[in-house]
Amino acid sequence: MANVTFQDHLCKGCGLCVSVCPKKIVALCAERLNAKGYHPAQVTDRSACIGCAFCATICPDCVITVEK
Ligand code: SF4
Ligand code: SF4
Repeated sequence: MANVTFQDHLCKGCGLCVSVCPKKIVALCAERLNAKGYHPAQVTDRSACIGCAFCATICPDCVITVEK
């Protein structure tokens, strides 16, 4: 299982990471706003992550780190 972390304060809620996750486990958090006023991305089911790092690669703001 991979560990995926987000630097919440840098996220602009663009949803690119949501669109590329092959396991469909990245989502924008509807209940939370970050300091910039956006709903930040998060992983909804860490146990399903395959560590492909597609999410981290596509993020234009280097918000996501994937560690295996
Ligand atoms: S590493 Fe791959 S499977 Fe895991 S959350 Fe990112 S895109 Fe999804
Ligand atoms: S691609 Fe980056 S900036 Fe866009 S929603 Fe995902 S984590 Fe946030």
